Amino acid sequence: MKVCIHRGTQEIGGTCIEIESAGQRIVLDVGLPLNADRDVDARSFLPDVKGFANPDDSLLAALISHPHQDHFGLAQFLPPQIPVIIGEAAHNILRSATFFTPSGADFKRTIYLQDQETIEIGPFEITPYLVDHSAYDAYSILISANGKRLFYSGDFRAHGRKAKLFQNMINNPPKDIDVLLMEGTTIGRGNPEDKFQTEDELIPEFVEYFDSTQGLCLAWCSGQNIDRLVTIYKACKAVNRQFIIDLYTAEILRATGNPSLPQGHWKDIRVFLPKSQKYQVIEQKLFDISNQYRNNRIYPENLSREASNSVMLFRPSMSKDLEAIGCLDGASLTYSIWEGYLEMDQQKPFLDWLESNQILMKKIHTSGHASISDLKDFSNALNPKKLIPIHSFETDQFPDFFKNVELKEDGKWWEVE
Ligand SMILES: [Zn+2]
Repeated sequence: MKVCIHRGTQEIGGTCIEIESAGQRIVLDVGLPLNADRDVDARSFLPDVKGFANPDDSLLAALISHPHQDHFGLAQFLPPQIPVIIGEAAHNILRSATFFTPSGADFKRTIYLQDQETIEIGPFEITPYLVDHSAYDAYSILISANGKRLFYSGDFRAHGRKAKLFQNMINNPPKDIDVLLMEGTTIGRGNPEDKFQTEDELIPEFVEYFDSTQGLCLAWCSGQNIDRLVTIYKACKAVNRQFIIDLYTAEILRATGNPSLPQGHWKDIRVFLPKSQKYQVIEQKLFDISNQYRNNRIYPENLSREASNSVMLFRPSMSKDLEAIGCLDGASLTYSIWEGYLEMDQQKPFLDWLESNQILMKKIHTSGHASISDLKDFSNALNPKKLIPIHSFETDQFPDFFKNVELKEDGKWWEVE
């Protein structure tokens, strides 16, 4: 078995790993680089893999570990006959997203992953392990071929709503791993000793902030961070406020196929259509989608009246709508995505907007990725012959924390020994 990490040995995002055995190949993740210039045709970031630009029979499949842009974002440019291996809920989420944002995907040929059920493709045996991550339906992947075993961690953590999966993995790890490709997103961010808050530990923080707010509570969070939506929903219940989500988020929650997750038709949830989504519904004739939530819709003219008993899922793209509606008296904002995002220049106008509307902001967040101490437990349990760092800006620091580390370079082939 031979491996080439096309992107990921020095960076977070744009992950793409090609694996070859007996002249046949599969690819793990086809991600969009985080620093990709949006004015440049994204297709130009496709790694140099035989079969990506033009079909090639030796490329058997592309596997997507989870539905985050930096892992699937370039897969839409592959020839449609290449099978895409992905979780079914993950694919449904990406498909639902295509109606509302350019960052969805709808693959023509799919093979669905199921937790710990092995798929055979050519010389490869592929066994997925469902993991705890801020993306729904995320997997680590064990690949066996020609007597060698490679384990790809994908993105994962141990403090989310599926933390039990991490414990199961540590207690009963796959054996005889020759190579572990392990993510290290949090390395170099903060103190190595940091313990991360669990999702449940965030609930009282939300509760306190919602309780101290007179008007509308805005909650800025990704509509695809299902764990966090559950956290916010639980806090809403605790303070007796309804949870207002937008149509896009309602559809993402429905796409999970998991009826125990909050849904747009539940009685304490309301569905709001910002203008942009209203236009999308009209233009694309998505009335079947919007009509599902007919009984739970909340309209602009009612927002002011209901502000003080509501928490609204929010993104900066909605700020103009809400200002025009005039429902922001006494409003507050909780910020629940990666902290670094707020420091980017492009967020300056939004911060100014908050100030001009006198909206106070509080960060309430925990990482979608494992802490260093959890990464240590993970790598010790899997006990690989070699640990190859991936998905980190600080791969040079891996030898400080883990055993048997070997650094690789993007674009270079190496043999699994
Ligand atoms: Zn991810």
